[in-house]
Amino acid sequence: MEAGRAHKALFCYFRLSLSVASTVLFALLPSKTAAADLTDACLRALGSRTGEICIVDVRTGRILADARTDGVRTAYAPGSTAKLITAYAALHKGVINPATRFVCRNAIRIGGRTYHCTKPGGHGALRLEDAIASSCNIWFYQASERLTCADLQKAWAAFGLAIPEKSLKPVFRAAVGESGFTVTPAQMALLMRNIALQDTGSNNPCSVLCRAMRKVTTSGTASALKGAGVSCAGKTGSPSQPQDSQRRHGWFVGFAPAHNPQIAFAVFCLDGNAYRTAVPVTVKLLKSYAAQKPGN
Ligand SMILES: [Zn+2]
Repeated sequence: MEAGRAHKALFCYFRLSLSVASTVLFALLPSKTAAADLTDACLRALGSRTGEICIVDVRTGRILADARTDGVRTAYAPGSTAKLITAYAALHKGVINPATRFVCRNAIRIGGRTYHCTKPGGHGALRLEDAIASSCNIWFYQASERLTCADLQKAWAAFGLAIPEKSLKPVFRAAVGESGFTVTPAQMALLMRNIALQDTGSNNPCSVLCRAMRKVTTSGTASALKGAGVSCAGKTGSPSQPQDSQRRHGWFVGFAPAHNPQIAFAVFCLDGNAYRTAVPVTVKLLKSYAAQKPGN
């Protein structure tokens, strides 16, 4: 009898420790595997390109993957992704609202120099949402006349980025992310999470930005993302390279799915531009994300 009871107790103890061990094991294993899978998916999406992809969990703010290839530096000019922060600064200051229109006739003269927009003939009269969707430089040059460098600095700081005021000059170049300051993919991914979390569906600045970012991927500069298998919202950027203004880099920053964000991310590609490099890389990345999450 005694031996039988001891045997039974020992058996229970083993069963218990086995189940504790397997719980611990399974709690650790899938997350490690998922992180490795996600890093692999990032590297596969980059393929032969030099670049970096950072993915953040929208709910927790945890960095799920930060995959970079050899030859990429830490930080680069944000280019047109900065227009989101410029829009935030102007909305927050109350100097524009979602209905404010500026006209783009393809060229504008500022400080004795002529600056051009990407669209021959210009974008015409645009509201903020369409200015972001089509990434119109001239719209943002005009909006920036209502802002100071300090306004832009405050707006970046509201998203946790300390940009020195001297690198936000002149304000019209800073408004389009071309005044010399740089950002990292991790900073941009966390910034996207921040915007996504403040989307209340109302007319607060972040909700306005989120609507515009959805338009970027449905009918704007990143409409190639419609084929990605999961909806997303974001912004393109093609900053010129400091050493050679004829050459550019590519950014796409955003979150997915578009209406119930689970991940926020930043894709950076050395050389090329947003349309030729960062957007196609994002399509590949989201396709493998959609394959892993059939619910989306
Ligand atoms: Zn334009």
